Amino acid sequence: MKVTDHLIKADGKTLFSFEVLPPRKGENIQNLFSNIEPLMEFKPPFIDVTYHREEYVYRKQPNGFLERKTVRKRPGTVGICAAIKNRFDVDTVPHLTCGGFSKEETENALIDLHFLGIDNVLALRGDPIKSEPHFIPEPDGHAYASDLIEQVSCMNKGRYLDDEQEDTFPTDFCIGTAGYPEKHFEAPNYGSDIRFLKQKMDRGAEYIVTQMFFDNEQFFNFEKRCRAAGITAPIIPGLKPMTTKSQLTMLPRTFFLNIPEELAEAISQCRDNEDARRIGIEWCINQSRELMAHGVPCLHYYSMGKSESIRRVAKELF
Ligand code: FAD
Repeated sequence: MKVTDHLIKADGKTLFSFEVLPPRKGENIQNLFSNIEPLMEFKPPFIDVTYHREEYVYRKQPNGFLERKTVRKRPGTVGICAAIKNRFDVDTVPHLTCGGFSKEETENALIDLHFLGIDNVLALRGDPIKSEPHFIPEPDGHAYASDLIEQVSCMNKGRYLDDEQEDTFPTDFCIGTAGYPEKHFEAPNYGSDIRFLKQKMDRGAEYIVTQMFFDNEQFFNFEKRCRAAGITAPIIPGLKPMTTKSQLTMLPRTFFLNIPEELAEAISQCRDNEDARRIGIEWCINQSRELMAHGVPCLHYYSMGKSESIRRVAKELF
């Protein structure tokens, strides 16, 4: 079932969903299942599975030279989506990026998803890989998420790349897209970021999931800007309970976001990570409560590979 249909069916009740990462190459899928299992009691209608591109790694050779290899450390997004759907009878949302895909490879990935009965995709550009100064699309790949969204929309109308074929079967994906309450780090200003978000909606995206944020005012302002720009689609806030002291610097560095002074102060004064986790969970519960009271259609939690703190948040709310 489509994410948008789940939101309609909820009829104003705030839903619970979360995002998982595919296991690292060589890890057992059971670990992932064990992470998901405790969250199923909160009845998520859908679970997102992230996509991870190849990275460059350097391996020392017997002759002492360093050899550069290209490795995908977390492959398997499509397979994991099918496995989770099968195991837990829940809808899955694979993340699909422009990075690492030509248009034809995108088309083939979408055909796989369609045959597997997966009804949703979250269409993203993807981040630059570490060795790139900025995002470089594949030859014959897409440069922006809006172009990828356009390709999925075309397939939904039965228009494949090889449009000489007649009577093609249309896919029927519900397309989600990313939004940034604190602005995407490359956007010169909020205005341009929202204009490009509107372009993504105009090209076929049906709902927005936001980057994580720790200050609800950022979300409320973002929502106002979206509505003022004519974006009417559901906006799903993305949240993460802070769980370690080191995340105080890691999260802003990785995701270009602000940690409110009050939270930063409280976490930095914690004796240990257990203390930090308690504060992070409390903060996330309060954030969630306020967003629910505001009437958000769904709360989407970033697991970053660990589910215990999300379980503790969800237990208080759902
Ligand atoms: P876009 O919407 O293409 O925007 C990228 C930048 O370009 C923005 O600054 C935008 O303002 C600008 N822009 C957009 N269109 C144009 C245009 N036509 N001309 C000029 N500028 C333009 N990354 C992964 O690799 N795998 C994942 O699984 C993943 N999951 C994510 C899930 C969520 C909910 C979010 C919020 C992010 C996720 N990301 C993931 C990270 C995301 O890929 C990065 O933030 C990436 O840098 C931007 O992706 P986007 O889809 O927002 O890009």
